Amino acid sequence: MAHFIDVILPIPLEKTFTYTISEEEVSFVEMGMRVSVPFGKSKIYTGIVAAVHQTAPEIYEAKEIHQILDDYPIVSPLQLQHWKWIASYYMCTLGEVLRSALPSAFLLESETLVLLNKDAEVDENTLMDNEFLVYEALQHQSVLKVHEVSAITERKNVMPILQRLLEKKIVLLKEEIYEQYKPKLVKYIRLGPAYRTDESLELLLESLKRAPKQSQAVLALFQLQATSKKPIASVDLEKSSNTSAAVLKALVDKEILETYFIRRDRVNFDGSSDDSNAKDLNEYQLEALNSIRKSFDNERVALLHGVTSSGKTEVYVKLIADLMKADKQILYLLPEIALTTQLISRLQEYFGEKIAIYHSKYNVHERIEVWNNVLHQKPKAQLVIGARSALFLPFKALGLIIIDEEHESSFKQFDPAPRYHARDAAIVLGNLHKSRILLGSATPSVESFYNVQQGKYGYAQISRRFGNVLMPDMELVDIKEAQRKRRLKGHFSERLLQEMSEALEMGEQIILFQNRRGYAPVLECLTCGHTPQCPNCDVSLTYHQYKKQLRCHYCSHATAIPESCLACGGSDLDTKGFGTEQIEEEVRKLFPDAKVGRMDLDTTRGKYAYEKIITAFEQQEMEILIGTQMITKGLDFRNVSLVGVMNADALLNFPDYRAHERTFQLLTQVSGRAGRTKKRGKVIIQTYNPYHQILKQVSTGDYDGMFQEQLYEREQYKYPPTNRIIKITLKHKNYNVLNEAAEWFSSALKNVLRATVLGPEYPPVSRIRNQYLKNILIKIDKNESLGTSKRNIRRIEKSFKAISSYRSVRVIYNVDHI
Ligand code: ADP
Ligand code: ZN
Repeated sequence: MAHFIDVILPIPLEKTFTYTISEEEVSFVEMGMRVSVPFGKSKIYTGIVAAVHQTAPEIYEAKEIHQILDDYPIVSPLQLQHWKWIASYYMCTLGEVLRSALPSAFLLESETLVLLNKDAEVDENTLMDNEFLVYEALQHQSVLKVHEVSAITERKNVMPILQRLLEKKIVLLKEEIYEQYKPKLVKYIRLGPAYRTDESLELLLESLKRAPKQSQAVLALFQLQATSKKPIASVDLEKSSNTSAAVLKALVDKEILETYFIRRDRVNFDGSSDDSNAKDLNEYQLEALNSIRKSFDNERVALLHGVTSSGKTEVYVKLIADLMKADKQILYLLPEIALTTQLISRLQEYFGEKIAIYHSKYNVHERIEVWNNVLHQKPKAQLVIGARSALFLPFKALGLIIIDEEHESSFKQFDPAPRYHARDAAIVLGNLHKSRILLGSATPSVESFYNVQQGKYGYAQISRRFGNVLMPDMELVDIKEAQRKRRLKGHFSERLLQEMSEALEMGEQIILFQNRRGYAPVLECLTCGHTPQCPNCDVSLTYHQYKKQLRCHYCSHATAIPESCLACGGSDLDTKGFGTEQIEEEVRKLFPDAKVGRMDLDTTRGKYAYEKIITAFEQQEMEILIGTQMITKGLDFRNVSLVGVMNADALLNFPDYRAHERTFQLLTQVSGRAGRTKKRGKVIIQTYNPYHQILKQVSTGDYDGMFQEQLYEREQYKYPPTNRIIKITLKHKNYNVLNEAAEWFSSALKNVLRATVLGPEYPPVSRIRNQYLKNILIKIDKNESLGTSKRNIRRIEKSFKAISSYRSVRVIYNVDHI
């Protein structure tokens, strides 16, 4: 009898492919194992077995597989079920989900490039003949394609060889490699806890009379403390007191001084807490924890709504600890893993060796290691921290999913497919595992809060900051008025400048937020009004002064700044608008003595660049940090007392139905960076529109007001959460073809669907990388079946693709577009 398997291939095909297997193989193969298979004329792919059966395919003759690659399934039936849901809900193929889900090293294919791992210690005697041939070839040639490996080994079937070489860590796959950053730790020194009062100090100096060197060191420490609030590095004290490391060590041994590291020990040594690991929750945190636990009896999902710095993380920690005890796996999802060095070190304090970090930029070995550890339920990966792709790991006993900063739009994958929302896909995953899901945010998304109101989610609130620190004091500054009276210095109002000077004088740090990078969005000719445009995209080029370039933020096209206008030859060129680069320049002029840093996409490209900036700011090597929304996210800086928002209007005017919600979230989050310790923080928001409702809601912390108003508008204009939306983007290099095709598609949709169909319309940037774009927006009522609507859309797409001139138009679905 013939045996067949259905294989999911990592390519955008709608169906699985059927292959034949031998009698021998059938006793071995299982769903979820990898097989390498031939495809088309000469391609080889690695795919996943989705089914084993005895029905031959009807329209093609099944080919034989090359080889089974695994001894056991690396993907579970439950995962496959989850992936199928993603494919169907987000209107993409299972192959596309597979490609996103599996680490690329699991998916060797004919196009894969392999190279030698230079760090590997290779014992040539342990290599099999074929492995040795490949190893040898890589000594002479830096990269090999899989078909070249075939030629070298004279075998059609080389996946197993490469797989073994990968497992032995002898080869790497060519891709970007991201290593974990270990910041250099600076050792700081301060008085021991027993000597921090004035009285104890006198006694101390008295007792040190017979140790002049030690007394000298203590006095020097005083002097340093008196002149600056900054932490004092051990080496600095050594120098300024003219003593030695040995003297300081003697003082530390006597517990007169103590040393600490800001980064590593912050969790332990912070203010009131002692150095025991487990922190006791305060009454508000406890109350929240209890209501979450209670709600988990009835509901799978709960929302923790806690203001910035209320100590949400500590609540998560308690819940995680419960699950750890029960030997369950825990998934902790974050919007962007690069932004979370701080959080990771905090969690490591509690769960040490039990944490695994999963990141699509980690190298293949690390990712495969985490995959296998999760698959085999190793304690090493009991708690997985990761960005959205961690959702695809082969969990076996998932007990809890935490989705921190659940409102963040970066949880939604934009490109390529699957365009899934990690929060929503995680809830589905949690349901499959019968685990609990906790969403956390200081500014919950309208969707999630709506679900709470509908009784679908449990809810807990913390409305006070930890340690009863006051919420920052927010002030709206009208820059229209200031501009009219010519009271602006650069882009700075008098109020902001005044607060900045005060903060600097007190030795406190400042964050300035401007959500636009570069120097200025456009360069404009004052004579003819021409602004240089990107040749590939329908957008003006951004002016970058530092690199003396004009750059496109869509396709990264760059040219030198022209000396004169390309249109009229005039030499009066000026910039319009402003970005972080320009703010930095102004700050340097206004405060020449202050140390200034900038954090945006341009300054964080290099390896570890992001971490270096954070560490430097944390260690107070900088006083002012200027940044885009990167600086809004969950960072916990102790000494920031002032946050300045340079211009709130750009956010509000963004052409998107979420612009107001997002402005509220962004401004609340960035404000939350101010005054996280005892002293009340200050936030200055500069705007042309101080009476704007959203700004008022931000400045009074009126989440409920914001929610009510936004929900009302969403209902009126048929947007989520009361309606479902699907955005269809059509893409083609020919303008006329695209226009015609888009008209066809949208009128078909209008005829067939029981939904509101808007468009086709050009998006604000209507051409990117020489491809024209047109959008169609479908708004589906909650009472209509989403499944039926999607099936209808698919049917229309089929007829559309049957028209030969439209075949080359790309159709991109974005379900729940945000
Ligand atoms: P959020 O995530 O809500 O913004 P965090 O969890 O970062 O707040 O907490 C803010 C600060 O308060 C952190 O520095 C944290 O170490 C501290 N903190 C929170 N809860 C406690 C606690 N129960 N005991 C001691 N320190 C705490
Ligand atoms: Zn461009």
